[in-house]
Amino acid sequence: MLQAKGQQQAALRAAAAKAKKEHVGNKVYLRGLVEYSNRCAKNCLYCGIRRDNLAVRRYTMSDEEVVAAARYAHEARYASIVIQGGEIATATRAKEIARLLDKINAATGGSLGITLSLGEQSRRTLDEWKRAGARRYLLRVETSSPALYAKIHPGDALHDFGARVRTLGYLRELGYQVGTGCMIGLPFQTIDDLAADILFFQEIDADMVGMGPYVEHDRTPLYRHRESLRPAAERLELTLNMIAVLRLMMKDINIVAATAMQALDKEGREKALRAGANIVMPNITPVKYRGEYLLYRDKPCVKEEADRCRSCLDARVRMAGDEIVYGEWGDSRHFARKMAGAPALNM
Ligand code: SAM
Ligand code: SF4
Repeated sequence: MLQAKGQQQAALRAAAAKAKKEHVGNKVYLRGLVEYSNRCAKNCLYCGIRRDNLAVRRYTMSDEEVVAAARYAHEARYASIVIQGGEIATATRAKEIARLLDKINAATGGSLGITLSLGEQSRRTLDEWKRAGARRYLLRVETSSPALYAKIHPGDALHDFGARVRTLGYLRELGYQVGTGCMIGLPFQTIDDLAADILFFQEIDADMVGMGPYVEHDRTPLYRHRESLRPAAERLELTLNMIAVLRLMMKDINIVAATAMQALDKEGREKALRAGANIVMPNITPVKYRGEYLLYRDKPCVKEEADRCRSCLDARVRMAGDEIVYGEWGDSRHFARKMAGAPALNM
């Protein structure tokens, strides 16, 4: 199924579109993306803002800048934001984020659904952030294969597959809506690895999933394997098939139409919506920082202000046959069902 082409692919996508309509509706929810900081203690072999990329000018947004972005999202009725950044697991950073959450909630009357995506953190820190008002956490497992994980990360204690999975467990225990995901089309990755990723999402009972194609960056160690990669068009199709299969297997979760889709195809995000995704993350980071948060090359919307992104977004989503819902958090229905004690809808 993951490699479906032609008629089989059309049937897969049609079934996924039907499941989407039935279980989450043709509604798209927004998450204003704040790229909070590109400082990172880690050195993932695929990522453009890895610690050892000395060509990156490092920044951390001020509290005022983050609060202004949150106000923008509130006024534009996005209803939710994601604060994302490199992984800094210090006590100082933990306090900074807790303080930031307080300020955002004070400035917006607690009206925003806040997702954090700040890498692996201690259970205590995650607890502190949950108490300060974060509702959701996005931590991609990147790949569910420990062997592949070891090939795309340095072999040290800071890049430990077990620790990543443990952190997902903490998030669940602490009551977060748990988001995870993987990259698709990595060097060395097989179709079996990708099938196992979907089973992993089911096994940990994810509430939301963000999967995107791997896009190479010339200042990273994995770049030397670029010749062995599947062509970009194939990575895109594979990602769309993954989204469709996931929608059929986990019918009521939130699935993100990842920004990296657009790096490979101008209409990548709309295609993702048609294949079963229901979440879009418009970038609301101040433009002055965007050029320094380049995880991969050809990242879209690097020069556009949030407003311009918003107007093109409405039209793009409508093109995909969906409607953006403004002013609603758009929490995972899967999570809500679990909280209500309803039986799971998974296949
Ligand atoms: N530092 C946090 C973490 O790693 O979980 C959050 C920020 S990190 C930049 C967000 C995601 O970017 C990662 O989970 C990874 O999947 C994705 N990413 C990094 N480099 C990428 C690349 N070259 N192509 C596609 N996605 C990439
Ligand atoms: Fe840091 Fe996340 Fe990039 Fe890894 S993927 S280097 S943790 S920002």
